[in-house]
Amino acid sequence: MESIDTVVIGAGVIGLAIARELALAGREVLILEACERFGTQTSSRNSEVIHAGIYYPPGSLKARLCVDGKEQLYRYCAERGIAHRRTGKLLVACDVSELPHLASYAERSAANGVPLASLTSAGIHRLEPAVRAIAGLYSPSTGIIDSHGLMLALLGDAEQAGAMLVTRTPVVAGRITPEGIRLQTGGDAPCELQCGVVVNSAGLFAQDVARRLAGFPMNQIPPTFYAKGHYFTMGGRSPFQHLVYPMPDRAGLGIHVTLDLGGQCKFGPDVSGWPAAPDDVFEPGLEDKFYQAIRRYYPDLPDGALQPGYTGIRPKITGPAEAAGDFLIQGPSVHGVAGLVNLFGIESPGLTASLAIARQVLYELKDCFGSSIVGY
Ligand SMILES: Cc1cc2nc3c(=O)[nH]c(=O)nc-3n(C[C@H](O)[C@H](O)[C@H](O)COP(=O)(O)OP(=O)(O)OC[C@H]3O[C@@H](n4cnc5c(N)ncnc54)[C@H](O)[C@@H]3O)c2cc1C
Repeated sequence: MESIDTVVIGAGVIGLAIARELALAGREVLILEACERFGTQTSSRNSEVIHAGIYYPPGSLKARLCVDGKEQLYRYCAERGIAHRRTGKLLVACDVSELPHLASYAERSAANGVPLASLTSAGIHRLEPAVRAIAGLYSPSTGIIDSHGLMLALLGDAEQAGAMLVTRTPVVAGRITPEGIRLQTGGDAPCELQCGVVVNSAGLFAQDVARRLAGFPMNQIPPTFYAKGHYFTMGGRSPFQHLVYPMPDRAGLGIHVTLDLGGQCKFGPDVSGWPAAPDDVFEPGLEDKFYQAIRRYYPDLPDGALQPGYTGIRPKITGPAEAAGDFLIQGPSVHGVAGLVNLFGIESPGLTASLAIARQVLYELKDCFGSSIVGY
């Protein structure tokens, strides 16, 4: 059996950011990834938006890690030449019933320390002539990023600091032992690893991985819900210069406009299903819902303009009838297992918050590593 200082399970943007942070802190790091390549799951099936931090309850991890992570991410992109753009974003109210919601987001955003400017209908028209709305908020710190470029840079830094990525190697079982955490891998060359530290950043499967760790207190594993989202693309030049968001709904941010770095626009994601298991099937029959939702703020959307794009699944820890949960970053002080951190419910704004989440994981491990490397 091999012994290893630190294992990170999952090579999505979160696992890669954590592996980088741990490797830069001097740990010996092995990243185990089930798929053939890194970053092919949720981290490449999202909107690639650098969120400002408008929506999240003040004091929540989502609020703090989004706001901190956004600044860290813009700096990191600049240092490492990762493609990104501060596009700015409009959050718009289409009728009077939405004005109280708009006001509450303005308040929430101020409490989170996120700058926003109020927009009148004419102001919205000046910024985005194709958008019809009665009032809005402008967020100058929202942007877009090449998420694959980000993951390449994170992996490059981690590897340069000595970390190693092994793909096609799922963690299939594990056991908490007095000497540390023992992991068993599947794939082409199954093996057993004795680990000092394990970070479970398996995204949609983080709860599954935790359940397979014999000796882990099962009552600490939150419920698992998968909320599916679809994107439609629109060919040709984008009629928008900014990201445009309607009022959020219960489980998502509403069917909004995002731009890619090539200047094309897409609409979504919706929330149109809570499958029992993740799948990437693009459900048929969603066109009418999308045309209707988009035409509330973009009435000139031509018939036939939308093409099915792709899907993404949100890893949620609360169900369809509940309020959105917070990120759950569970260290030894919560579950009592030395050297283990679980990351549950890392839905949006996980991409934005990735660097800040990695710092938080290091903090959760402070008793294991000693506070000197944590820098708190
Ligand atoms: C529709 C949608 C839109 C979003 N839009 C945005 C956005 O615009 N901005 C933003 O900030 N955030 C956004 N997010 C959130 C963001 O995409 C996620 O928070 C982030 O990608 C999560 O990364 P991750 O590494 O936790 O998960 P993943 O990318 O899923 O990575 C987990 C990895 O673990 C691996 N794995 C699973 N099980 C095992 C195992 N047993 N052994 C080994 N490896 C395993 C998987 O193969 C996978 O590669 C969005 C999410 C969705 C679903």
